Amino acid sequence: MGGSRARHPYDPRAWALWKHPRRVIVYLLAMDALAFLVFGLTFAASAPPGQLDWLRFGILAAGATVHIQLTQRQEESRRAGTSTVLIDLTAVWVFPAVLIVPPILTVALIAIIRAQRWLIARRPANTFLFASISHSVAAVLAHLVFTSFGDWEWTSLSPLESVREFAIVVLAAIVYEGVQVVYIGGVIALSAGKQAKLRNILGSKQDNILEAVTTGLGAITAVLLVVMPPAVAIMAVVTVIFNRLAELDQLLDDVRTDSKTGVLNMRGWSEAADRALTRTARSEEKLALLMIDLDHFKWINDTYGHPAGDDVLRDIAQSLDEVTRPSDVVGRFGGEEFLVLLPDIDETSAREAAERVRSAVAKLHIVTTDKRGGQTRIADRTASIGVALYPDHGTTMDQLLQAADAAVYVAKEHGRNQVRVATEGGRPGPA
Ligand code: GH3
Ligand code: MG
Ligand code: MG
Repeated sequence: MGGSRARHPYDPRAWALWKHPRRVIVYLLAMDALAFLVFGLTFAASAPPGQLDWLRFGILAAGATVHIQLTQRQEESRRAGTSTVLIDLTAVWVFPAVLIVPPILTVALIAIIRAQRWLIARRPANTFLFASISHSVAAVLAHLVFTSFGDWEWTSLSPLESVREFAIVVLAAIVYEGVQVVYIGGVIALSAGKQAKLRNILGSKQDNILEAVTTGLGAITAVLLVVMPPAVAIMAVVTVIFNRLAELDQLLDDVRTDSKTGVLNMRGWSEAADRALTRTARSEEKLALLMIDLDHFKWINDTYGHPAGDDVLRDIAQSLDEVTRPSDVVGRFGGEEFLVLLPDIDETSAREAAERVRSAVAKLHIVTTDKRGGQTRIADRTASIGVALYPDHGTTMDQLLQAADAAVYVAKEHGRNQVRVATEGGRPGPA
């Protein structure tokens, strides 16, 4: 086999960075260069930190360390499932530094936080470093924006001045978040190419709410740090609890998600499907259910092994997500069967949607490993799809599932790789 000897991980030629597509490497290096330019100019222009700055820095570093050390396990499990823009709850500590600590100490604080996170993040070093750099540049730019509005004494603000000051804090927060989205989102967009989804670039709504609340807590920490520094201890407690709430949120999500494919599992699917069915029943619209059974799936396992089978399932689930509308409900029924619920649709459109799914599956090229661990491609896979319509083939989800399942059976009998619609009364009729 290929004669490449294992290289020492510190050998630059062995860096995972070079495995990215060229446009991503160029982007990463350009954004890094830009970051160091910003650091250099800012550090050169700012006065050396004074005693008060060091004290505030010390308090924030201590708070962040308590936070990180008490939430290691949670953070580990929370991160395991996210593929979107990095959400770092440590903004509670970094954002106050952005506002009231000289930028060089803010970058030092980020380094302290990231060094501790590194131990649990287990991500490629170049990705981790890039995330750290983008976090730092976001912090420095937000600081520049904030201080460009002048120096204000927070302890003696008139009510009107405090409104103005608050607006500037919000502006700084927007810059702080925005720069991170541009940096990290840019990588995701370039790596994923045409498949990039806005949701992956911007993160989910939930992630963004979480991040906004975290930054808000950071603003409060800044105020406390100026007005009543010992009260920052309360923030350390709050952030640990907040981290725990975020974990709970994640767990609730996990309960409804199929961990292998990322689409809804039966529990999550049934809940969403029942809601859609109830809405449909009220509105006199139609609704379609697709049951998708992959053809000869056992053959994939037998030929390439179960891990390859899992990769196929994952890619097919992802493509189901891509060829359907956001309001459609995609789930894994079990084994190699998927369900898609299409609200607000007629029979013709339902057939078209099923055809779209069928041809998407047929066009997939799945890169995976064979039984010996070598790279291989699996293509020309097909699926048999059964379609049931509400109210034509049933008025309850059970009836619809039964009708769609029977239609799948007919598709299989007639040679697979085809779409069959159930017939009145639930039984599939002739072609
Ligand atoms: P048909 O065209 O008639 O549907 O043939 P099939 O092989 O797809 O159907 P069958 O029901 O005989 O086999 C389904 C296979 O799917 C058997 C099972 O090992 C495999 N399978 C089910 N769940 C998983 C999974 O999570 N991962 C992998 N790799 N295989 C799975
Ligand atoms: Mg099956
Ligand atoms: Mg099958």
